[in-house]
Amino acid sequence: MHPLSDPNVSSFRADLHCHTTCSDGSLDPKEIIDLAIETGLNALAITDHDTVDAYKSAVPYAQERKFLLGTGVEFSCEFKKASVHILGYDFSLENRSFLEYCTRQQEKRLHRNQEILDKLHKLHIAIEEKDLLALHHKASTLGRPHIAAVMVAKGYVKTIQEAFQLYLGDNKSCYVAGTPFPVAEAIDIIHEAGGKAFIAHPHMYDNANIVREVLSLPFDGIECHYGRTPPERTKRWQKLAKHKGLLISGGSDFHGSAKPHISLGQSWVNQEVFTSIFERNLIQ
Ligand code: AMP
Ligand code: ZN
Ligand code: FE
Ligand code: FE
Repeated sequence: MHPLSDPNVSSFRADLHCHTTCSDGSLDPKEIIDLAIETGLNALAITDHDTVDAYKSAVPYAQERKFLLGTGVEFSCEFKKASVHILGYDFSLENRSFLEYCTRQQEKRLHRNQEILDKLHKLHIAIEEKDLLALHHKASTLGRPHIAAVMVAKGYVKTIQEAFQLYLGDNKSCYVAGTPFPVAEAIDIIHEAGGKAFIAHPHMYDNANIVREVLSLPFDGIECHYGRTPPERTKRWQKLAKHKGLLISGGSDFHGSAKPHISLGQSWVNQEVFTSIFERNLIQ
């Protein structure tokens, strides 16, 4: 039976926000699909930071296991100097501009990582790019969490959290903001590939005005269900989405052991929400 014609529609749950070893998650794409099935989820969108490489193995594996998969990504961008994460859904995995944009994101990150490593060197923390690649050979996107993991492995800090608290966190001594791409460009690229653009975890912004301002751009939706967001916050974003005629989305932001307090499926969307987002590029 087609998964979407299941008469037991009320039990349908899809997690639309999770990360694999292709970015900073600890499970590889097959393992995350296995876990989704074990957890009783009906569908998944993998949203790695700035890469869709997970889909190379996730697509054939989801087909083999008859598991429903939608296309997803989480782009790191900037709006008025604030870092903003954009979720893209239901885009084509074949679109050239989209894939080139992912490559440009990787290149930007390589430069930024080097600047971070240079700052660490000045504090006698000797980490090279090859150390990053050696510890994270499956990752297409490398960033601060990967640098933090190498710092732990080499004994410079005890935990990833400590690496962020002492060196890598926003505005700490070795923080480098970099020059992220503008939000508007990411939205355009997602649209060009036939997809829909959502603002990720809006409650995470200290300045709620940024969310309202950035929503003047041509977004398709707001990530209303997220992690352990208090219900009143979720309701607030749902109300705003309705008022603006936008779609809603939701997911856990599961990273595996990299963020052990978050479990896959902790936040999810129902069938109605899932089908409102995924119209064209479902893998089944
Ligand atoms: P980057 O994209 O390289 O700037 O890294 C951002 C990622 O680092 C976020 O998606 C988080 O997963 C992680 N991160 C940010 N701040 C912290 C923190 N204080 N502790 C642990 N992880 C963090
Ligand atoms: Zn992450
Ligand atoms: Fe994010
Ligand atoms: Fe995320």
